[in-house]
Amino acid sequence: MEGGASSKKEIVNPKAIIHQRFGDKARYNVEEVQDSPSNGCPGLAIPQKGPCSYRCSLQLPEFTVVSDVFKRKKDAMQSAAEKALEQLSDPPVEDASDQLVARLSYLFSNEFYSTCHPLSGHFRAALQRAGSLNGFVPISVMPIYDSKLSNLCKSIKPESESKPLEEMSVIMDAATRLSETVLMSKEFISLKRTSPYPPEVLQSIEVCCDQETFVKVIRVPYTVEKVVEPLTLDVSSNKYYMDAIARELGAADASMVLLSRCIGKSSSETRLYFNAPNSYQSDKEDFNDGSYLNARASYLSGLDIYGDAILATIGYTWKSSDLFHEDVSPRTYYRLLMNKVPTGIYKLSREAVLAAELPPKFGTRSNWRGLYPRDILCTFCRQHRLPEPVFSLIITSDVPEETSRCEVKISSKGQDLILHYYPQQSFKKQSDAIQNASSRVVSWLSNYLRKLNMPPEDLTSYGNGLDLDFYPEYISKELNLFSLVHKNLLAINDTKQSSSVDAICSYNIEGPVSEVFASNGCLVCVSYSVFLVKEGEKEVLEKNDEFEFELGSEAVIPEFEVVVSQMGVGQSACFKVELPSQDLIFAANGDPARVLSLLSSSGCSLEYSTTLLRVTEPLEDRMEKAFFSPSLSKQRVNYAVQHIKESSATFLVDFGCGSGSLLDSLLDYPTSLEKIIGVDISVKALARAAKTLHSKLSNSSTNPVQTSGLNSALLLDGSITTFDSRLYDCDIGTCLEVIEHMYEDQATIFGNVVLSSFCPKILIVSTPNYEYNVILQKSTTQNQEEDEDQSSTKPCKFRNFDHKFEWTREQFQVWASDLAKKHNYSVEFSGVGGTEGVEPGFASQIAVFKRGFELPTGGDLAAVSYDVVWDWRSTNM
Ligand code: SAH
Ligand code: MG
Repeated sequence: MEGGASSKKEIVNPKAIIHQRFGDKARYNVEEVQDSPSNGCPGLAIPQKGPCSYRCSLQLPEFTVVSDVFKRKKDAMQSAAEKALEQLSDPPVEDASDQLVARLSYLFSNEFYSTCHPLSGHFRAALQRAGSLNGFVPISVMPIYDSKLSNLCKSIKPESESKPLEEMSVIMDAATRLSETVLMSKEFISLKRTSPYPPEVLQSIEVCCDQETFVKVIRVPYTVEKVVEPLTLDVSSNKYYMDAIARELGAADASMVLLSRCIGKSSSETRLYFNAPNSYQSDKEDFNDGSYLNARASYLSGLDIYGDAILATIGYTWKSSDLFHEDVSPRTYYRLLMNKVPTGIYKLSREAVLAAELPPKFGTRSNWRGLYPRDILCTFCRQHRLPEPVFSLIITSDVPEETSRCEVKISSKGQDLILHYYPQQSFKKQSDAIQNASSRVVSWLSNYLRKLNMPPEDLTSYGNGLDLDFYPEYISKELNLFSLVHKNLLAINDTKQSSSVDAICSYNIEGPVSEVFASNGCLVCVSYSVFLVKEGEKEVLEKNDEFEFELGSEAVIPEFEVVVSQMGVGQSACFKVELPSQDLIFAANGDPARVLSLLSSSGCSLEYSTTLLRVTEPLEDRMEKAFFSPSLSKQRVNYAVQHIKESSATFLVDFGCGSGSLLDSLLDYPTSLEKIIGVDISVKALARAAKTLHSKLSNSSTNPVQTSGLNSALLLDGSITTFDSRLYDCDIGTCLEVIEHMYEDQATIFGNVVLSSFCPKILIVSTPNYEYNVILQKSTTQNQEEDEDQSSTKPCKFRNFDHKFEWTREQFQVWASDLAKKHNYSVEFSGVGGTEGVEPGFASQIAVFKRGFELPTGGDLAAVSYDVVWDWRSTNM
């Protein structure tokens, strides 16, 4: 705002006035507003991260006002002060109509002409108009660029807010009271000064008239079937740019063109321009000829728009007297569109087409990628011009600890409740409660919107379930438009749902044989390109030289994960997937004409080509190696070996054996073991385990002594929460670093099943000690990429993206002691990494359960629920 007229300092600095009047009693409170990242900078490939806008609330003794959203704190504070002044402006003296007349009169003053007000640019440009239009400023632009004017219109006629015509008629009424100074043209629906500006005023601001300027804009045809079309507008400074837009729309002149407010981010200059209805000049009100409704433009703007519309980023700003303009590409348009769907908001907040769909559930902070659920929900509401969602935390201070639930309410502008989510689930951390609730609402909304093209009968029962009430009648118009506009998104997503990962027909991996493969949890770095392909024709959609993600964290589309997990470092692969929605393709990139011609006929598909550049072990493994000698995993193996020796165990079961690191290492030691069984739910991990065990066991020359007693090794695929009699009554059971990969209730089910049904004589369970993370993370955070929004006071991250929990010593001991007591086992605690009795305990905490009873003979030995993945018998026997 400081760009305003220097002659009107006292008026352009509302904050100073507020200060004079209220001093310390005026309290400004600036909050960050997370803007939907993609709208900010059309054409920029990488969405800008993080909060970049501010809103300010100003608290005065009598009332509080809230500013609009601004890029700079300063502007937000000024805006709040300005709003406060508006409310304060000695109410009884003037009524709104008088104020409106006064404001209009000011707009036509000499003073206003030379300001950097967004509207004064129109006054100057109007003087460039030829012939009878010279000097006429269309009324339609006035309330759009002068918020005081539109606020006054609103207070005179509240319904005028979303009805440009009403707003304009209020202004016309006011203008008739200024007939001395302002000339009104009923034909042009424009206003002009009766007297010319004096020369010194005209000279006060230089208008350069010889600059040729062209700007790219988008035509949004009213029929949804027609695709949006790029155009170039001549907005050279010797003309009035609104007339150029009018010509494109087939309108006689600028006054026949109406404008929307900003689309997308509130500080942008991106607007929709459209023809005023035919009845505009006549007095008829029946312009609602539904057949010309422009669903897409109406949906984006929240206005009823008929006929074709133009989407452009152009206008005068507070900062300069020149016309600001930026090219709008089809990509900008599609990004605006995608930003109205939860999945789109999420995907656009990631930087790649290969980013996965919106996850259905918020797991832990550390494995969520992209915009957080709460921000997605807020963006969604803003994009649909709904008030911010209301989050209410319900805190229960039950023993042993406080927990919270979070309710979410979304209301319409008119404060009618649209959605109410009241979850049962409680969380220890308030932020988890909020993110989780948001995530549920967001994915519920996403599913609901996806089903909008279903017959209404099927939809009625949708929602109103156990913990969510939904009243679509308050947004039914929006929903109607939604299903018209997102038709192709809806259609694609439905088929996408049903087809699984197996849909990738084929992929071939090429390149030198490599020993380095990535397993889940590894950080992989790839280069990739995505093409649209059809019969030898190829069009690049996106290219990335280095893209990192954690394998198995569902950060990218499942097809991509499947292929990368089969690749070795240095190898390349090529594969095709089904086409995603056209909206998404355009939001990604691409030359619209080429892309369209490829898409328009059948046989087009999306092709990925990728090279695996690097694989970095999971952070947890890196830490275990870097901080401990021998490594933490080695220490766990040693711990198990010691118990095997002490108990002269012959039969060992490894619950959650993963890639077989324990079984493999055990074979390096002389032990009494004769039979070993590993069980896991990951077939991929089991396959790796089979490979390593096979090469060790078949090549007995490397290992003659140690394995001599071993006569059977079995790898089984199944969940350790289900009983299988082959694992019954082993001498020793190990379950190392597994329970934290299960949800807490599942971990407890395992605890009960293992002690009551599997009944090992000894059971060793290890899991990370959360309290130890401080030490690990202090030393690693400097070189780890960090989530920006997490401050230094944040709680420690989990060690591995797949961890569902990490327990403190107390939590683990309560869990284990309860189980032991219930099933007549004894339990002792110890650990590896760190020193007994020294804070914060061991890095890996261990519980050793010992069976306190004799097993009854018999029992159900017929239960076989696991699948055999690998079965090895010694040939020596
Ligand atoms: N014990 C191994 C692997 C630890 S990683 C080691 O110390 O190296 C955790 C393993 O638990 C993974 O391989 C995962 O597939 C497995 N897992 C998780 N939930 C499981 C379940 N319900 N049943 C069996 N295995 C499970
Ligand atoms: Mg783990």
